[in-house]
Amino acid sequence: MATKHITTRCIHAGSEHVQHKEGLNTPLYPSSAYGYQNGVVYPRYYNTTNQKVLGAKMASLEGTEDALVLSSGMAAISSALYSFLQKGDHALFANQLYGGTLNLLREDFRRRGIDFNQVNFSNLEEVKQAIRPETKLLYFETPSNPLLQIADMEAISNLAGNHLLTIVDNTFASPVNQTPATYGVDIILHSGTKYLGGHSDMTFGVVAGQEAHINKIRQTAKLFGGNINTMDAYLIERSLKTLAIRVQRQNENAGALARFLKSHQAVKEVHYPGLPHHPGYNTAMRQMMGFGGMLSFSLHNNTKAAADNFLKSLKLIQPAISLGGIETIISAPADTSHAALSPEERRNLGIAESLLRLSAGIEQEEDLIADLEHALQS
Ligand SMILES: *Cc1c(COP(=O)(O)O)cnc(C)c1O
Repeated sequence: MATKHITTRCIHAGSEHVQHKEGLNTPLYPSSAYGYQNGVVYPRYYNTTNQKVLGAKMASLEGTEDALVLSSGMAAISSALYSFLQKGDHALFANQLYGGTLNLLREDFRRRGIDFNQVNFSNLEEVKQAIRPETKLLYFETPSNPLLQIADMEAISNLAGNHLLTIVDNTFASPVNQTPATYGVDIILHSGTKYLGGHSDMTFGVVAGQEAHINKIRQTAKLFGGNINTMDAYLIERSLKTLAIRVQRQNENAGALARFLKSHQAVKEVHYPGLPHHPGYNTAMRQMMGFGGMLSFSLHNNTKAAADNFLKSLKLIQPAISLGGIETIISAPADTSHAALSPEERRNLGIAESLLRLSAGIEQEEDLIADLEHALQS
């Protein structure tokens, strides 16, 4: 199966074929209670048939030995981090992080006695300078939220060598657009809530990596809980079958919208790694198979009020949080993910007051452009 194209693996990898029935889909085993004489099976041990099928599919898509599916992205992130960090350790994180991950660091690391710093992972020298003797791991997102900054995964893995663990949150790219393990990244995380689920109707998370690492994370996850149930496993497997085809369409739509916005006189800046002027373009060309479905842009009238007016004028594209679904949605970071920061803190992060982050869906490109064009006129 490893030699097959990702589109094929989305559909077939991991699936359980039961010889005595003709159904094409993995049968569901909704039990939480199992006979124990041949070994203990239990959903919170992450070892039911339907959980293992999903783990095998995700490992195939990410090109790793093993993978684990949990109940949310944050369950995946916290279980992974607390498997490798303890009191006295230090970890380096990217300065542009998903808000929930940032809250975990700010609210929970201190009371556990874990120290951390945040640096710009697009700048290798900055990462190198911040590594200390007690540093255990490097953690980053590429492309990042909301400016779609690109970090060079191969260069960072080389810098980490054998003594530092590397962790990438691969939510924005999905394994269709990049497989961090190819570049030596140790642990790959996902909020499956986004592209993997793809229909804005469920939450789950994934960790993928070498078997030894996943075994360690499974031990932590057993203690923390955060397993999925069988009916979720059913929907996740169903969603993953169309992942590649959805993401390929989302890539095309995001690229078309980015080029349209770039050419519009009411738009100031467009952040999309597939545009040649983007600072991460060359690295993205090297390490990504597609540039993704996420983009952000700011307006010449750089005020929250202008962004708000724009959002109110949209008819098809919904202002909504989250991302990665089949419907195109948009949000203003100054009012959502980065609302807790002052305008000055936002400016320091490069987040304009009028910045809008768009998650491209799979609608017809012309309909999306018409909606943006109309709203930009008003
Ligand atoms: C949404 C998101 C998460 C958190 O995932 P949940 O499923 O909401 O727990 C983590 N990382 C990124 C990049 C996300 O977008």
